[in-house]
Amino acid sequence: MPRLIFMNDRLVPEHEARVSVFDHGLLYGDGVFEGLRSYSGRVFRLDAHLDRLWDSAKAICLTIPLSKETMAKAVNDTLAANNLVDGYVRLIVTRGAGSLGLDPNRTRDPQVIVIADTIALYPQEHYEKGLRIVTAATQRVQSAALSPRIKSLNYLNNIMAKLEGLQAGCVEALMLNHKGEVAECTGDNIFVVRAGRLLTPPPDAGILEGITRNAVMELAHSAGIDCREATLTRHDLYTAEECFLTGTAAEVIPVVDIDGRTIGTGVPGPITSRLTRDFHALVRG
Ligand code: PMP
Repeated sequence: MPRLIFMNDRLVPEHEARVSVFDHGLLYGDGVFEGLRSYSGRVFRLDAHLDRLWDSAKAICLTIPLSKETMAKAVNDTLAANNLVDGYVRLIVTRGAGSLGLDPNRTRDPQVIVIADTIALYPQEHYEKGLRIVTAATQRVQSAALSPRIKSLNYLNNIMAKLEGLQAGCVEALMLNHKGEVAECTGDNIFVVRAGRLLTPPPDAGILEGITRNAVMELAHSAGIDCREATLTRHDLYTAEECFLTGTAAEVIPVVDIDGRTIGTGVPGPITSRLTRDFHALVRG
């Protein structure tokens, strides 16, 4: 059975799911996307993902040619058509085909694509023992240049940092903003525990406001763990008791080494473990 992809208004076999070479999504990374996950047949925080997709599109003056209701149905239909109960969904809206020039006004037919698949971002061993990460020299792009709050098809900033991580033998890399403050990792948000308090950079540090991040902040609140947004430096990370990353694909993953500094005792800490359990209960419960 070939994989079925939702393209614009219907499901088509993978080999028929094609975009034009003139699509500005391909030519310029002009478009937006989302990554969602379904657990036991239910998409986690579908509305929040759709809201963020629509906000990203609004920020780049792209009109998504269908309603949120239709998009929600497309997500569920694509999962069902591919027999996926526990799956990962990639939602893409491109600017559409145009001329060989930047002008978005000279494009037509934005392409709406929904891909459903399975995902295992990091090996299981990393969830048990914790990740080692390094700081990338590539800074997070400044919001005055391009807001990191837009989940756009232009991810080269993150890919450049990811390459640095991979070259250092790490699967994730830390990104700082232009002020040298901690922003996020290339595809995940970051949290630390300091003096028993959970801290994470605020949206204006230059992050994508992660849906997993927000869920973990709510879980911390429910668990009576003091959690707040704070400006963080690398020093705050190096001297933290615990550190972990969050993301739709990654879920919650401990970090035990940053730039060669052991975090806490070098094993996933109690608050990380508690929030990992609570997150699993939330998404699977
Ligand atoms: N930051 C970046 C740059 C991301 O691309 C992502 C999504 N992979 C995240 C953070 C995490 O966001 P979410 O929890 O909504 O997946």
